[in-house]
Amino acid sequence: MSTGRTYVEPAKELPVYGEYDVIIVGGGAAGFAAAVAAARNGAKTLIIERFPFFGGTATAAIMPQINGFRNEREPDGLQTTRGIGEEVILRLKELGGLGITTHNKQKVYPTAPGQLSFSYGVDTEKLKYVMLKMVTEAGAEVLFHTYFCDVIREGRRVVGVIWENKSGRQAAYAKVIIDASGDGDVAIRAGAAYWQTVHDEAPRLIDILIYKVAGLPNEHHVHGAGVYSAPCLWGPKAGPINAVDARELTDAEIRTRLAVYEDLKARKAHDPQLADAEIVETGPMLGIRQTRFIEGLYKITAEDVLGGARFEDSMAMASKPIIHYYGYRRFLEHEGYEIPYRCMLPKDVDGMLVAGRCMSSDQPAFESWRSIGPCMCLGQAAGTSAALCARAGVEPKQVDIKALQRTLIEQGAEIGQGRRRE
Ligand SMILES: Cc1cc2nc3c(=O)[nH]c(=O)nc-3n(C[C@H](O)[C@H](O)[C@H](O)COP(=O)(O)OP(=O)(O)OC[C@H]3O[C@@H](n4cnc5c(N)ncnc54)[C@H](O)[C@@H]3O)c2cc1C
Repeated sequence: MSTGRTYVEPAKELPVYGEYDVIIVGGGAAGFAAAVAAARNGAKTLIIERFPFFGGTATAAIMPQINGFRNEREPDGLQTTRGIGEEVILRLKELGGLGITTHNKQKVYPTAPGQLSFSYGVDTEKLKYVMLKMVTEAGAEVLFHTYFCDVIREGRRVVGVIWENKSGRQAAYAKVIIDASGDGDVAIRAGAAYWQTVHDEAPRLIDILIYKVAGLPNEHHVHGAGVYSAPCLWGPKAGPINAVDARELTDAEIRTRLAVYEDLKARKAHDPQLADAEIVETGPMLGIRQTRFIEGLYKITAEDVLGGARFEDSMAMASKPIIHYYGYRRFLEHEGYEIPYRCMLPKDVDGMLVAGRCMSSDQPAFESWRSIGPCMCLGQAAGTSAALCARAGVEPKQVDIKALQRTLIEQGAEIGQGRRRE
């Protein structure tokens, strides 16, 4: 929406907040893991995030189950999400932060490294704690309540970012920048090409307000419940909307938030177990599944997913079904496919990587790799690459891919390569 009038903003001299090896924009599943990986690999790292906690969709939209550690059905011999994603589960277990999921409704889940099951219900409060602890322990600098606004460019290379927060408008420089905003905010500001499906143009995943209820009978499991005694319900549907249009996003928040009590009332009519249920929380953010996808040096496709593709520049794996493959849940007939590093490289912008749900992909492939588990793997790969590039003084497009793969394998990630050599 716009009045048609414009205003020419006067140029401003901005204070430079700092100079870093790596800056990460956005602290969702991908950005959090990128910060941990970059800092653990010795990079002077800064992560900025608009909320005062990490997790993005997983915590701000109270999305209480982490999926995608291995194929949901046989053949499921390979745990494809390892490394930082696995560490998150092990730390949650120590805190009593794991629960049941909608997928495999067991009460006890395997938690030995390499033996994780497809899905875990998680306590999203404990997830916030675990993520913050891992980022700060790794030594990354954190700036919360900070909204990325623009890039600083030299030609086609991004060399810094500009943000707004309570201190005003500030700039910062980095050798490598990681866009983990979910929406490709940094890449798009830098002029990267992208694609996006809005409204009803084509099959896409829709956006949903998730809410948490109390007052269920003990150990009662309803659809969407993630954790015993703190279940979350997939509530009013917002979309499909264009969630990078501020007016549309706000209207969707208003619509779904006003519908939330009616939603629970309607469920009560069909589920006597919900008779005493009360809404105790809606997240600060509507659950946004998808917005923009950058055009990278490679676009991962449905054929790659279904065919169990292998890539020389593999940097992560995924194995989850495609949610709506021509209208049905398409399970994979193999243990997992590799994701090439080139998917994180915007083809027409340098100096940066894109990690998480806005990576270069077609729609069906995204519906497989988009889970929180694989997104953490993408973040780990991006953060590790950024640290190696900063150390070597090279562009992300020039990273020594063998060194990156070796480092990822040494640090516990599953990228398929080691297994291929067996
Ligand atoms: C309704 C719904 C159900 C889902 N179900 C499941 C499920 O059952 N299991 C599963 O594993 N996955 C599920 N997913 C998918 C999964 O949650 C996401 O794909 C994943 O969490 C995306 O992580 P991300 O880090 O790429 O992006 P995001 O989680 O979107 O993180 C982006 C981060 O960047 C920050 N940010 C954005 N813009 C800016 C800016 N300009 N300045 C500063 N910070 C910024 C945001 O605050 C956020 O923290 C679901 C998603 C939804 C919406």
